[in-house]
Amino acid sequence: MKLICIGRNYSEHAKELNNPVPEEPVFFMKPDTAVLRDNAPFYHPDFSNDIHHEVELVLRVSKAGKHISPEFAHLYVDGITVGIDFTARDLQQQCKAKGLPWEKAKAFDGSAPVGKMLSFNLSEAMEPIQFSLTVNDALRQQGSSTEMIFGFREIIAYVSRFVTLKTGDLIFTGTPAGVAAVNIGDRLKASIGDLCLLDFEVK
Ligand code: ZN
Repeated sequence: MKLICIGRNYSEHAKELNNPVPEEPVFFMKPDTAVLRDNAPFYHPDFSNDIHHEVELVLRVSKAGKHISPEFAHLYVDGITVGIDFTARDLQQQCKAKGLPWEKAKAFDGSAPVGKMLSFNLSEAMEPIQFSLTVNDALRQQGSSTEMIFGFREIIAYVSRFVTLKTGDLIFTGTPAGVAAVNIGDRLKASIGDLCLLDFEVK
């Protein structure tokens, strides 16, 4: 399985990193070795002094598809949760300054803790989906699916023009404003609404 991550999908987050608001989705990938499940701890790597949390809504792909049109996108998703797109911001800034790919800043081992999956029917998902992250029980990030620049259907349609989606793939849909560094000893909890789906420590 693979992880497909959408960048700059909330305008307030694009602004906080001095990035332009994109005219089409920006995506990148993480390998399966990035995934942490079952509230496993995140071990702070030694190659960065500025690992940022990015809490995101995460969709689970339920069947293979390519060139999926937006109106059929709901047929390809059956689960939703929250995840953290850990980012070595110092390495990312160096890569961006040199015009190089971001992989080492985004795709490293353990960089994608994923919460408990909820079953999800995109065609019935009419309500805004609210999500949040606390660090040591203080609110750090909160967002709503309605604030996304590109919605779930547009993301699935766009990405599947380039990359075949396969069963079990995960799509990270972008982070709202409030990203910041984590430290060893921090405890992160991410929720959809009042339901905590992810709860782990930085070691
Ligand atoms: Zn992200």
